[in-house]
Amino acid sequence: MQRLVEGIHHFRENYFAENQSLFEHLARDGQTPETLFITCSDSRVVPNLITSAAPGELFIVRNVGNIVPSVARGMIGGVAAAIEYAVQVLNVENIVICGHTQCGAIDAILDPSRVRHLDFVSRWLSESEVIPNLLRDKYAHLEGEARLVAAAEENVLVQLENLRSYPFISSRLDAGTLKVAGWVFKIATAQVFGYDPVVQQFVSFASSPAPP
Ligand SMILES: [Zn+2]
Repeated sequence: MQRLVEGIHHFRENYFAENQSLFEHLARDGQTPETLFITCSDSRVVPNLITSAAPGELFIVRNVGNIVPSVARGMIGGVAAAIEYAVQVLNVENIVICGHTQCGAIDAILDPSRVRHLDFVSRWLSESEVIPNLLRDKYAHLEGEARLVAAAEENVLVQLENLRSYPFISSRLDAGTLKVAGWVFKIATAQVFGYDPVVQQFVSFASSPAPP
């Protein structure tokens, strides 16, 4: 804990001192984030760091497995409330769902026996129970790390689909007033891969100069 307290001092003496007017502006005028960023709770994924986003730019929802509960399945709670607030009140222009490599939730989705003793985790991850079947159908040739990456990618795509189950999102997507994107963050290299619906693959932003 002492490490965190020292970090607070460091933050105030450095970042805050250099950006004090930004914080005063945000306190005075409120937040107008352009993007709702939905990602995993994993400590290795740091949204503001990997996107170089300043305070006030990202409205962030984090949970185990970057899951968006579908309205139809009825597991409505804090995630749905945050999505509704971001879209209906803050009028975000973008929603990014960002999965990542080495995700413990993906391991558990592929092998539910790992978390059978964890009542809440196993119920939560059941939102992604279609993933093992998807892997069997589409990626039977993959194994090891490649299979896990494919699972992380498919999990992001399932959550993008689940976003559409919220009427206030599907109507904005149809009207063209909201954009959604699926990303996967590769921890070891800090690369971000974005889903390209034209080629139906995740493509590294390093080789793609115009991310969505
Ligand atoms: Zn994760």
